[in-house]
Amino acid sequence: MGQCYGKTIPTSENHGCTTTITVTDGGDRHSQTPPRNGTPSVKNTPSRSSAASSPWPSPYPFGVGDATPAGVSPSPSRSTPRRFFKRPFPPPSPAKHIRSSLRKLGAHGKKPPREGTIPEEAATTVAEGAEPIHNALDKNFGYNKNFGAKFELGKEVGRGHFGHTCYAKARRGELKDIPLAVKIISKAKMTTAISIEDVRREVKILKALSGHKHLVRYYDACEDANNVYIIMELCEGGELLDRILSKGGRYTEEEAKLIVVQILSVVSFCHLQGVVHRDLKPENFLFTSRNEDADMKLIDFGLSDFIKPDERLNDIVGSAYYVAPEVLHRSYSVEADIWSIGVITYILLCGSRPFWARTESGIFRSVLRADPNFEDMPWPSISPHAKDFVKRLLNKDYRKRMTAAQALTHPWLRSESHPIPFDILIYKLVNSYVHATPFKRAALKALSKALTEDELLYLRAQFMLLEPGDDGRVSLDNFRKALAYNATDAMQVSRVPDILHMMSPLAYRKLDFDEFCAAAISTYQLEALENWEQIAFTAFEHFEQEGNRVISVEELARELNVGQTAHYMLRDWMKSDGKLSLLGYTKFLHGLTLRSSNTRQR
Ligand code: ATP
Ligand code: MG
Repeated sequence: MGQCYGKTIPTSENHGCTTTITVTDGGDRHSQTPPRNGTPSVKNTPSRSSAASSPWPSPYPFGVGDATPAGVSPSPSRSTPRRFFKRPFPPPSPAKHIRSSLRKLGAHGKKPPREGTIPEEAATTVAEGAEPIHNALDKNFGYNKNFGAKFELGKEVGRGHFGHTCYAKARRGELKDIPLAVKIISKAKMTTAISIEDVRREVKILKALSGHKHLVRYYDACEDANNVYIIMELCEGGELLDRILSKGGRYTEEEAKLIVVQILSVVSFCHLQGVVHRDLKPENFLFTSRNEDADMKLIDFGLSDFIKPDERLNDIVGSAYYVAPEVLHRSYSVEADIWSIGVITYILLCGSRPFWARTESGIFRSVLRADPNFEDMPWPSISPHAKDFVKRLLNKDYRKRMTAAQALTHPWLRSESHPIPFDILIYKLVNSYVHATPFKRAALKALSKALTEDELLYLRAQFMLLEPGDDGRVSLDNFRKALAYNATDAMQVSRVPDILHMMSPLAYRKLDFDEFCAAAISTYQLEALENWEQIAFTAFEHFEQEGNRVISVEELARELNVGQTAHYMLRDWMKSDGKLSLLGYTKFLHGLTLRSSNTRQR
């Protein structure tokens, strides 16, 4: 098991803080901070990727501990990027995988860990939820065994926590003239069944999702006694992180938009397929070439997982600066990726991290409690749309965040030039609408009449993607076809199509655009809008005209699925005429939160 501990020291090079790393070995990717590279967390130094030139050389030099194939040489050195962040980029780790630290701190994600408590020595040896190391682990993946015969390895191009990546060439066959990259994951570091399963899942997800314009193309997976080899498209333009560094930390809004649209496009695709990436950060987006306008590709599905439509995950994984609050609270879904995109966008626009501290535990505390700074330079010169965009991704309440597809229709990004993808959220919302009571549906219909053009734009795009019939309505069949059209193999594992079975009441009716709007709006997301009060007021006026009726406290409690203890509170929601008041109406729309019992235990 590996564990990185950061100690802050000033250097003449960066006039600020850098991190020295002490590494102890182990290597469970899911639960520890793996030590494949001695510089995983240092970003204002020569890149983590440039193992050869690092001032913090790896304790596992290439080819020594990793059973690296012969002939592989370290990547070429890169010059030290100049420091640009107002808050210097490291300590301790922008890329550090965090679960082990939380466990060591005994926080279990419930309470924010105390700052400065990361120990300087000692390492945990057994991952939480993992069985102890034993010799009977089956490290046979069933991949091709003839890697050496099929491919020729070149220099290292990059290195992360779990693997290092090299140039490669196919010796023959259809890949012969295609520049390739091979991620090499050492079997010696797979010390638990979970870590083996993680690699299996990384390959499965990459293979299933391969084909999207902004996702690295998968070609093959091989194995031998020492390593697993993932053969993929070579991205020759380097990491987004390096471009941020070379630009001195700030993108213009127009430049940032080009980046963010690509990120949202690929992430919305992953989410539709039922895959949550869980490690979105600038290191995991690569450019296809050095050209200024090169396309970007998402890589590294090593921490990704399949997720069913109503499932919550509870394992704490990711990279500290980009981790969402609900991940630290151990109950999360795809919205956690959206938070990470918010962090990336914030960095692109202002060159600083929104949540920063000198220790990992301090970063977590900031993620959980602090509001990002939108006051200091350059924020006063950044457009209100851009600020609103970032704020709606960095909402601490995951239910209030925009989805990736919604974000693509936000006024900041709105343009004809990028397609709006299907949003799996629509399926979830329509599903709960068709199961809602007539009273709840009437409340939602009134709300839909108060929507502004901004919200309608997204809903219209989603409605059109369902290809309504000549009568301008959609049925279950439209939802089925749209899902089938967008499906990859990943969907079968994530059981996204199950949602269609739940929507079966729709088989006997059709939705026109007005009712579709009522079905597909999220009250939580609307509550996050600055003009929510106005929307609620207008909606209530519509509700008063059509929908509001005398309702007993008992009936209201049944509507909300709450017991007698709530009756006292519900009485406050009523007007003297026995109907819902404005307050009652907004509370009713919001619903009473019941604890989710659908968290997957690991
Ligand atoms: P992390 O520390 O983010 O978990 P990891 O060990 O899972 O990383 P990757 O992120 O997949 O490994 O790869 C590490 C680095 O190797 C990348 O950041 C990138 O610099 C380089 N790399 C990976 N895949 C490719 C590719 N297809 N083309 C070019 N370089 C690549
Ligand atoms: Mg990576």
